[in-house]
Amino acid sequence: MVNAPSVELLNPMSVRVRIAPSPTGNLHIGTARTAVFNWLFAHHHGGQFILRIEDTDIERSRPEFTQNILDGLTWLGLSWDEGPFYQSKRMDLYKTAVQKLLDSGHAYRCYVTEDELNNLRASQEAKGQAPRYDNRHRDLTPEQEKALQDEGRIPVIRFKIADSREIVWNDLVRGTVNWRGSDLGGDMVIARRAPATEIGQPLYNFVVVVDDVDMGITQVIRGEDHVANTAKQLLIYEALGDSVPDFAHTPLILSPAGKKLSKRDGVTSIFDFKDMGYLPEAMVNYMTLLGWSPPDSTQEQFTLDEAAKVFSFERVNKAGAKFDWDKLNWLNSQYIHNLDNADLTDRLIPFWEKAGFEIDEASDRPWLEQVALLVGQSLMRLDEAGEMCRYLFDETLGYSDSATQHLQQEGVAPVLKAVLSTLEGTDLKEKDDAQTLIKTVTKSEGVKKGLVMKSLRAALTCDLKGPDLVDSWLLLHQKGLDQKRLQMAIAIAESA
Ligand code: GLU
Repeated sequence: MVNAPSVELLNPMSVRVRIAPSPTGNLHIGTARTAVFNWLFAHHHGGQFILRIEDTDIERSRPEFTQNILDGLTWLGLSWDEGPFYQSKRMDLYKTAVQKLLDSGHAYRCYVTEDELNNLRASQEAKGQAPRYDNRHRDLTPEQEKALQDEGRIPVIRFKIADSREIVWNDLVRGTVNWRGSDLGGDMVIARRAPATEIGQPLYNFVVVVDDVDMGITQVIRGEDHVANTAKQLLIYEALGDSVPDFAHTPLILSPAGKKLSKRDGVTSIFDFKDMGYLPEAMVNYMTLLGWSPPDSTQEQFTLDEAAKVFSFERVNKAGAKFDWDKLNWLNSQYIHNLDNADLTDRLIPFWEKAGFEIDEASDRPWLEQVALLVGQSLMRLDEAGEMCRYLFDETLGYSDSATQHLQQEGVAPVLKAVLSTLEGTDLKEKDDAQTLIKTVTKSEGVKKGLVMKSLRAALTCDLKGPDLVDSWLLLHQKGLDQKRLQMAIAIAESA
């Protein structure tokens, strides 16, 4: 049996955990959520959170993905205490460790060719067996090895996995986990093909162990999809003679339909959420709840620091966590509604710009803050402010069908003309000024207030629904846009 770590942390004061993303894509929500759990655990125990970039897959790793991962973690507030460390810069360390396993007889060179492996797989498949390497080069004599080398074969290095081995560990989330050596696919490749005088590029399951040992990792917290890797890695710890960390396998994030969340579900990369107008505070809060609940399960809104105080693996679920858009949206709206208005304005500016509005912050800041104040409480996501505020920014905005229909009703043109002429002699600064003007026109035209309000809304905002009318009017007035719109609306009304 492999030394099974206790569910009780042996040395909680020196907790060192890590997030180890592979830069083969943008920061994914699953990786980000794993980072959240690591961060919470580290901060709960006053430990260290380490960032390691697993970029050994040279073909698929790209610097722009690394940058996206660093930026994404930073955006979410998941600050790391050490790193980023790059595996690509640590090859010598791994090769030394491979050599150690070759020397101790835990690893060996395997000369089986790709063709031979394909044939083996095909014959296993034909017999309905799971594909596995049959360990055929495990016990080659030096003469046999020499003969294979003379054929020009280039070997990989494999790590021996005894079929009879039982592998058991106490997972911090899943409790006792059991694996059999025979379920691990035969002796595993730990280094790629290279001439027998060299050591080829060491591979994932091996370098992870070397790094976790070298970096003094005390708990490996990662997604449930790594359970089989853990079984293999435990054997490597043992062969290297290193002490074994605790393991915590966190539940996967599932689509709303309960399937594994994939690219097909649309949004999976963290910056997609940013572009959709989710706040980082809401995102981390939501991700914390994806698979964990606080001791007071009625509490849904908290900061990372607050969650860290009460975080433990006892309250992490084993079952997959379904992604719930409604909950994320609700949380996001709460965070938006609680923002200080200057902060909200800062965050809205990029979304207004994205909607195509020209923003001159130096001259418009007070006006922009008033716009933010007007719409902030109705926003669920920041990006909604683009369409919601278009009537305030876009001088070329056309009238909606419903607005046009209303404007063309009988009696609307005289009302708007009366508004326009009264407006010319009015200093429109406060809400009261607008209310007084509306009252004056209602009286002078002998119409219902409702008609004046609806006509004004149609004329000023180009639509029949939207944020508060009087506030909108004051904002349009500051830009001189109310008179222009009234004139346009009168022209439409009269063209009926
Ligand atoms: N590089 C692995 C991944 O991105 C993570 C490995 C680990 O956490 O041990 O899935």
